[in-house]
Amino acid sequence: REPKPKMPTYKGLENFKLIDKMGDGAFSNVYKAIDLSSGKKVAVKVVRKFELNASQRANILKEVQIMRGTNHPAIVRLISFSESPEYYFLVLELMEGGELFHQIVKLTYFSENLARHVILQVAQGIRYLHEERGVVHRDIKPENLLFERIPIVPSKNQILRPYDEEKEDEGEFIPGVGGGGIGRVKIADFGLSKVVWNEETMTPCGTVGYTAPEIVKDERYSKSVDMWALGCVLYTLLCGFPPFYDESINVLTEKVARGYYTFLSPWWDDISHSAKDLIQHLLCVDPAQRYTIDEFLAHPWCSAAPAPPPPPT
Ligand code: ADP
Ligand code: MG
Repeated sequence: REPKPKMPTYKGLENFKLIDKMGDGAFSNVYKAIDLSSGKKVAVKVVRKFELNASQRANILKEVQIMRGTNHPAIVRLISFSESPEYYFLVLELMEGGELFHQIVKLTYFSENLARHVILQVAQGIRYLHEERGVVHRDIKPENLLFERIPIVPSKNQILRPYDEEKEDEGEFIPGVGGGGIGRVKIADFGLSKVVWNEETMTPCGTVGYTAPEIVKDERYSKSVDMWALGCVLYTLLCGFPPFYDESINVLTEKVARGYYTFLSPWWDDISHSAKDLIQHLLCVDPAQRYTIDEFLAHPWCSAAPAPPPPPT
């Protein structure tokens, strides 16, 4: 066992006791911490201000502003924000289960039922951002989708009840495992997100009467970047590898630009036509043709009943 690394101390964060590092990014570290005033566990994202230029600093403040305006069970909550001369501190709802990315690595891939359970929660979060807040996230990926608690993954012959918001306290009933299950998944990291749509009028931001058509179209299509990303996440969940990959960044860029991907055999052989149909409507190069979040949610795969377990042997 490795000794626990000593936690740093930050001037301006005396009210929190840091207990573990949860992740890090280019300009930030995220810690699991205890809020000493309430005794509650939280996550603290510490952003090193001195490494940021003016526009990057403005982006952090935008991230905070967007998060302040959101309130949804599939979006990581911002509890408070403060700053010192050297740092920004974002106190966030703690997601103890870590990244969806790690669970994919651990499990190789998800069953269709489990994938549906996860992706529907993410989709509800995106629906809220797109339709109710006029926000585009722009960085949907497995590293930014976090589990509320460490998931208990059902084995192949266990039924996972479809996600039901009303019954969230009961957890997912898994025979032999009981409640708990894989639990909630939430969208984190609003560092690249953008408000594109006026919340009240549901029109593009800015004075509509004077907005050029390419801007109106741009703002409409900007939401479709999240839908492409959602398609990539769903594809990855179902088979364990991403739809677009190449060692060469130039080749990869070309593949994405052409929307060149396949349902590679044997990995995709047993996956339903319905799932593939849904992915095809998301990984669609023309943003005008790509499914919107409402079209996604209306697709039959999203409401398919979980498959019954295989007969006992
Ligand atoms: P960056 O902009 O640097 O990617 P993120 O907000 O995505 O910053 O945080 C980086 C990583 O820290 C995440 O991928 C995740 O592993 C971890 N993390 C972020 N927020 C939380 C949270 N609320 N609870 C637990 N872990 C978190
Ligand atoms: Mg991130």
